[in-house]
Amino acid sequence: MAAPPAIPRRGLFIGGGWREPTLGRRIPVINPATEDTIGDIPAATAEDVELAVAAARSAFLLDGGSRWARASGATRAKYLNAIAAKVPISCVSLNLRPEVRCIHVHRKVRRMHGVAEAPLSHRRIKEKISYLAWLETVDSGKPKDEAVADMDDVAACFEFYAGLAEALDGKQHAPISLPMEEFKTYVLKEPIGVVGLITPWNYPLLMATWKVAPALAAGCTAVLKPSELASLTCLELGAICEEIGLPSGVLNIITGLGPDAGAPIASHPHVDKIAFTGSTATGKTIMTAAAQMVKPVSLELGGKSPLVIFDDVADIDKAVEWAVFGCFFNSGQVCSATSRLLLHEKIAERFLDRLVEWAKNIKISDPLEEGCRLGSVISKGQYEKIKKFISTARSEGATILHGGDRPKHLGKGFFIEPTIITDVSTSMQIWREEVFGPVICVKVFKTESEAVELANDTHYGLAGGVISDDLQRCERIAKVIHSGIVWINCSQPTLVQAPWGGNKRSGFGRELGEWGLENYLSVKQVTRYCKDELY
Ligand code: NAD
Repeated sequence: MAAPPAIPRRGLFIGGGWREPTLGRRIPVINPATEDTIGDIPAATAEDVELAVAAARSAFLLDGGSRWARASGATRAKYLNAIAAKVPISCVSLNLRPEVRCIHVHRKVRRMHGVAEAPLSHRRIKEKISYLAWLETVDSGKPKDEAVADMDDVAACFEFYAGLAEALDGKQHAPISLPMEEFKTYVLKEPIGVVGLITPWNYPLLMATWKVAPALAAGCTAVLKPSELASLTCLELGAICEEIGLPSGVLNIITGLGPDAGAPIASHPHVDKIAFTGSTATGKTIMTAAAQMVKPVSLELGGKSPLVIFDDVADIDKAVEWAVFGCFFNSGQVCSATSRLLLHEKIAERFLDRLVEWAKNIKISDPLEEGCRLGSVISKGQYEKIKKFISTARSEGATILHGGDRPKHLGKGFFIEPTIITDVSTSMQIWREEVFGPVICVKVFKTESEAVELANDTHYGLAGGVISDDLQRCERIAKVIHSGIVWINCSQPTLVQAPWGGNKRSGFGRELGEWGLENYLSVKQVTRYCKDELY
């Protein structure tokens, strides 16, 4: 068997090159599935942020015609396309049927519409897909298959925003129709400036890409700060940018702890906008820092999303698959995980029997092992936090119907069984707070209005789902669920073309689609007095 590739020892990616952090500190990288230390990453501090912001500013500034913001959208698209790749859809699931597996729906849709796969040519992510997926797996503990699919999405996201960058050229100087003739007004869409991008560990490279691709497409330059718990693939993105010759300073990558490397980005006077994905608690800190400079922020925060299942579903097993997928995919470390399951009383018992059956059959193993469907959670800290959630649920009177522990066949690694919790009341912590692990809590309802009330009984508002054979009912419920995303007869499909984001304490602003690009654009009104020109 070939030896695994070495973990590269990288510096900070600033101004198109690599440098050691000013204070020389590094953070160990631990493989959460083996608990082994496999490498280290630089621990940046405010001094390094200063350098990165200066590099980004110099790459952005409008005075030199060749700078990034002044490059045409078509030119920026060439760079984004050079980063991207095209590969066939990766079938990833927790033993799901093929149609359910296609969470990466944009690929599926492309194929359905007969859009040809592009030649692989020079595209860097494609060349590195297997290596990047391996790196993501050993860094985060997610199954290798899932990591491959994430890389597929990374490539698709770069390509999608390359298309929007090109289209942006044609949207400039859009005239506004006015009721008087003496004024002429048009609109320019300009990049906001230097943007700070702070991202979490659950989809390390993908969450970074959701920000980097639209920011660069819009003409912004960026300082990216990935999570200290999983930064390896984001550093590799730096290496890819170097290889394709992305102009220096357009993307800078700073790794390190949140308070040391993230906070100085959020409060920096020369960072014009912060885009953040992470916990609601950190989101509040970032918003406070940004408020001191009236700096715009977009926040993609936590969730506690409901999945409502009615008694009219003819195919219970299909609904069970979506429930499994909705909460155990990526070990439940998904912001939009449908972790509150609402079951109609007439099907509750049958449904739970099948759900437990499914949970028992999920293969939990070393995430590099063939067929693994549930890997480890990200860290010891997260493992302990999840275990505490489970024990609190038990002590508050809930029943652990299945799971709740480390799988017996695994001695090492931060693994937790898929866990199903019943007898839950709405005052319990397990109902109210985000676990961010493979834990689903269940409540039974009698009527549609009770289901809606329970679904909306949360401070969060990221996503929600409804499964019923009555499509009118589904549409009705989609309108009244207080969230940024509603899924009908499914859970979790994520489309690069469609807006992603939440309401309430799940944040504000939208990523993906055209909305993701608007996040990084500022609209300028230009009005000319032209009465003298008329006569
Ligand atoms: P986190 O808030 O702990 O960390 C996120 C990022 O913020 C990391 O890079 C971290 O280093 C940085 N950070 C921490 N303290 C900071 C500070 N004081 N100033 C600036 N930066 C700081 O979140 P996490 O544990 O990495 O991610 C899990 C959370 O992310 C969950 O709540 C999940 O729901 C959420 N999430 C949301 C979405 C979404 O689209 N809404 C997507 C993925 C994850």
